[in-house]
Amino acid sequence: MTPATAKERLAAFLVARGGHNFCDACAARAIGIDPSTAYRAAAKTTQAVGFVREYALCSDCGASRLVTRAAG
Ligand SMILES: [Zn+2]
Repeated sequence: MTPATAKERLAAFLVARGGHNFCDACAARAIGIDPSTAYRAAAKTTQAVGFVREYALCSDCGASRLVTRAAG
């Protein structure tokens, strides 16, 4: 079985926590990848329908940052 890519893992993480905002640092920590990988994964993930990337409060660390979430 091929390991899931960082993008796939991030998408699954966000869908499982739909409606919550995660900055790249928190998402990276949660799924066990480094922040620069998370940044690239988030940028790719949000090209897909159903994901939003915007400045908002992170649901995890509470900072106002660029966050990603599954919409709806
Ligand atoms: Zn955060």
